[in-house]
Amino acid sequence: MRVTTAFCRLLRLDGVRVTSVVFAADRLLVSVALRRRRLVCPCCSFSTRHRERVQAHESVWRHLDLGVWRLEIRATLRQLRCPAHGVHVEAVPFARHRAQFTRDLEDLVAWLATRTDKTAITRLVRIDWQTVGRIISRVADEQLDERRLDDLFEIGIDEIAWRGGHHFLTLVTDHRAGKIVWGGVGRSAATADEFFAALDPPGTPDLREVPADAEPGRVAEGAAGDQPSVGARAAQLTTISMDMGPGYAKSAREHAPQAVICIDPYHVVQLANRALDEVRRDYWNELRDADQPDAARRFKDARWALLKNPDDHTTTQAATLRKLKNAGGAVWRAYTLKEALRSIFHSHLDILDVAILLERFISRATRSRIRAFVRLAKTIRKHAAGILAAIRTGINNGRVEALNNKARLITRRAYGFHSANAALALIHLTCGPITLTLPHESL
Ligand SMILES: [Zn+2]
Repeated sequence: MRVTTAFCRLLRLDGVRVTSVVFAADRLLVSVALRRRRLVCPCCSFSTRHRERVQAHESVWRHLDLGVWRLEIRATLRQLRCPAHGVHVEAVPFARHRAQFTRDLEDLVAWLATRTDKTAITRLVRIDWQTVGRIISRVADEQLDERRLDDLFEIGIDEIAWRGGHHFLTLVTDHRAGKIVWGGVGRSAATADEFFAALDPPGTPDLREVPADAEPGRVAEGAAGDQPSVGARAAQLTTISMDMGPGYAKSAREHAPQAVICIDPYHVVQLANRALDEVRRDYWNELRDADQPDAARRFKDARWALLKNPDDHTTTQAATLRKLKNAGGAVWRAYTLKEALRSIFHSHLDILDVAILLERFISRATRSRIRAFVRLAKTIRKHAAGILAAIRTGINNGRVEALNNKARLITRRAYGFHSANAALALIHLTCGPITLTLPHESL
């Protein structure tokens, strides 16, 4: 068998034949030629026999290593003019547009990125982390199926901190499928608006049902009228879970007014934890200002004892809590309030009981004279309907907790990427409706 024939079978590259194989000092150089005569646009399926310029274009891609050898594929390509995309170097079947790596190598990198850490990938594949980011963006773009947004009924909109907590991403979860189906940069109403725009891109037919109280002649105007139109896919949404911030709710009311807004109890408890932490910090500052450094230092350690679920306390934390109880005061009262609220949501009560207990909590907190909890009571009263809707529909964070934890873990790994797109791509690849396959699995 000739060397070129052997390499043709070894590399398994689509649509090419190997013309030469050269061993260089640190790599193998394999030259290939395309089998097809027609030139294909890299952006669409347009093909032509007509060559735009005579000048040839030398291209290089890195392929899967062969043993310890780095392997480079070289080809001389032609240029074409696509009526839609203009002049481009022709597409090759074995690599993605603008990629310097073959499809097989990119698929391997994407698979690794979802399963292992930065150091392992960069060392194993011998590429830097930013390159990994560009590769997974390309793979995610190709693999993300537009149809994933077709049958959404119950969704959750959540924010997630990115790059040390100063940047945020908004993630949309399909509660039924347990998958993240959309991600965007930021955490405002505008970010949620982007999701609804992706759900029903401008120009798609407006399937809004005529509301009973609508003025005649208003309905068909679509986005031009005062009343924004509801897209076909947004109209299917029945419930949207979110936190108590104003941004997502504003966007949801505007784009999917028929959907019930659910406030996840998880967010309510989180807010209570924050209120408790504020009380603790105030007290700690008081101790410090009162020139009791020892007491202040000891109390600083109380933070975790206060915020943790009592079932998870260590012996020391339990002892700290007992001391706080004996001392009484605002911190202890704030703690019992927080625990009372938490237990409402953790006891599998029916909705009537939850409604009664929530009302009782609101009046207790309002009378507590602890500023942070008076404010919390006000917030909870404002969102009571949404909180109860979450209990009634059973749409809550608990259902997708494993998914959220995974997204958080992945986002931490994505800190090193400079671009938010790479971070979102990694989230899509790990938590989205995508199944990655390794090169040998598609044999
Ligand atoms: Zn084209």
